[in-house]
Amino acid sequence: MRRTLLGIMFAGLMAAAFFTAVSEAQPGSVKEIVKGVWFREGEIDAMGHCNNVIIEMKDYLVIVDANFPSGAKLALADARKVSPKPVRYVFDTHHHGDHAYGNAFWTRNGAETMGFPGVVEMMKIREPQAWQSAAKSRKDVAELKLRTAEPPKTVFSKNPHVMDDGVRRLEFHHYGWAHTKGDGFAWLPKERVLCTGDAATNGPYNYIGDAHAGNWPKVIESAMKLKPRHVLPGHGPAGGAEILEGELAFMRELNALVEAGVKAGKTPEQIAAGKLSARARNWVGAPWTGQVKDVYLEKTKGVPRGSL
Ligand SMILES: [Zn+2]
Repeated sequence: MRRTLLGIMFAGLMAAAFFTAVSEAQPGSVKEIVKGVWFREGEIDAMGHCNNVIIEMKDYLVIVDANFPSGAKLALADARKVSPKPVRYVFDTHHHGDHAYGNAFWTRNGAETMGFPGVVEMMKIREPQAWQSAAKSRKDVAELKLRTAEPPKTVFSKNPHVMDDGVRRLEFHHYGWAHTKGDGFAWLPKERVLCTGDAATNGPYNYIGDAHAGNWPKVIESAMKLKPRHVLPGHGPAGGAEILEGELAFMRELNALVEAGVKAGKTPEQIAAGKLSARARNWVGAPWTGQVKDVYLEKTKGVPRGSL
């Protein structure tokens, strides 16, 4: 093949586009992370969708997170594109609508939904109010014609819960209360792939209203002990251990900032004027004043924010 100057310039442009895309958001994209494990980046800004992970077992697929119903539909369509195997299990990393309101969609499509006990406990507290309010603003939720959220059908009685079919080993871990009481991680020990749900996101997506902010860093430290090679977050692009390191830095600094502010008698607004390190800044937002207020409530009331 003869290489023209234009051809060389085009190749250069393509390479530049590729390297930019690796770290930037690509909502709606599906990438194979390791053989038989696909990461689907959710349309967070456009449709509120979380990320999904499609895991190919010997005879079937496991999906990480039920997503909103409209996200579930897209994830199922993508699963059918990458593998002929049926979706048999769907794991709710936690109870939030963008991760669990698609449950009924999946059960109607023959899959079994599952999660840790805290997912069901939190649904009992937050529902049916959260569902009914979502149904007012979201067509996909209203269209399911349910009065309330469908909890996961299978509630794990063991931690970790292990699925091993001889071809693939998939573990589900609960390391305690971080983003929510039911936070679950999906872990592929052989491939060193960790799916974190919202206990670790990659961007300004840390909603703290259901969290235990003070315990959050401990949960991340436990997950880091697995030494993952690939980290697939609940929101934002996929990456490696740097996602856990950044999330840990953010939660540590946020806790420290609010603790010092409370001691000094500052208001949440005054505390929010404080700055975090450059390393933690990728996680600031959702919004920042809300994050500070939630941690402030936790510190001043002396109980997890999510239990208030
Ligand atoms: Zn969440």
